[in-house]
Amino acid sequence: MVYVRFGARLLAAVLMLAVSYLVLTACSQSEQTAEEYLMGTYVTLKVYSPQAAVIEKTVERLREIENLMSANLPESEVGLINGAAGKSAVKISSDTFNVIETALYYSQLTNGAFDPTIGPLVNLWGIGTDKARIPSNKEIERSLRLVDYRTVILDKEQQSVKLPYAGQALDLGGIAKGYAADEAKRILKANGITSAIVNIGGNIMTLGTRPDGNPWRIGVQDPLGPRNSYIGIIQLIDETAVTSGNYERYFEIGGKRYHHILNPFTGYPSRSGLLSATIITKRSIAADALSTAVYVLGLDRGMELVESLPGIEAIFVTDDFKIYLTKGIIQRFDLTNPEYKVENSGQNK
Ligand code: ADP
Ligand code: MG
Repeated sequence: MVYVRFGARLLAAVLMLAVSYLVLTACSQSEQTAEEYLMGTYVTLKVYSPQAAVIEKTVERLREIENLMSANLPESEVGLINGAAGKSAVKISSDTFNVIETALYYSQLTNGAFDPTIGPLVNLWGIGTDKARIPSNKEIERSLRLVDYRTVILDKEQQSVKLPYAGQALDLGGIAKGYAADEAKRILKANGITSAIVNIGGNIMTLGTRPDGNPWRIGVQDPLGPRNSYIGIIQLIDETAVTSGNYERYFEIGGKRYHHILNPFTGYPSRSGLLSATIITKRSIAADALSTAVYVLGLDRGMELVESLPGIEAIFVTDDFKIYLTKGIIQRFDLTNPEYKVENSGQNK
């Protein structure tokens, strides 16, 4: 009896020591975290730094980007460009100009699978809003005629953008969060931070390694499971991982799912046989545009495109529960969900 009590006390003492050790290590690494609702999604920042102010600076910058680029704010720069469609060019900040220029670059690269002039279709479907509905074929045809990235007029000297036809509308929802993640990283780095992770609604950006020197371990969302359930884990150092999927925003009618990634050629939510597409690379703006684009392109064309781009890797999940990896990510992906099978396009791990 006495022995047991003594044992319990000893255990308690050891536990106390362990707890104080944990608290100490946590303090020396000064983990600062913040959670905000921004850009229509949840944003989390985890920064290893003694200064708390750097998080505020970063969040402020994200808010600024949202106010410039949200298509839902009529007074944002994108709102002003859309308001002047068919009428005049609008002078804008270098921020918005660069994002539009980059968006058009990825439109060209993907032959229009990514198209920031998708606005009229996005508004027509209203997916994710209380006005979501299935439009008529006539309505889709009418909106489709306005969707064409090649019509956007950029004037570099004036730093202005013009949409030549009335009714046209830019929507940077497929790329602005990537830019925001890049900007968050730039600010953290400029403030001397060497270890951080930023999550903008599932768009992950890592800075450096974890404080213990190991790679960040990032779960790839299970497209069919509840939020924060994973198909597998990837290891990242100083890279970004961005996923586009049919599970983010959607509505269902008659057992059919209508989701928010639209095919600019058909005007309907993309049905390419993919449940999700994840892009892993350095720049989140590239990852964001490309994840949306390859989701539309589907496995074969998406895989071909990504393998042709240096420094860019991808994870495709198909609707028959198979996972396809580009060559450069095979060694860094660990399957954790046995319902899925890694195919590796014929290569062996
Ligand atoms: P998420 O917003 O869930 O991270 P994406 O990055 O794939 O997902 O972006 C989807 C958003 O991009 C849509 O909500 C819409 O605003 C816009 N969008 C939809 N289809 C396209 C497309 N084919 N090209 C460019 N942008 C698109
Ligand atoms: Mg995207």
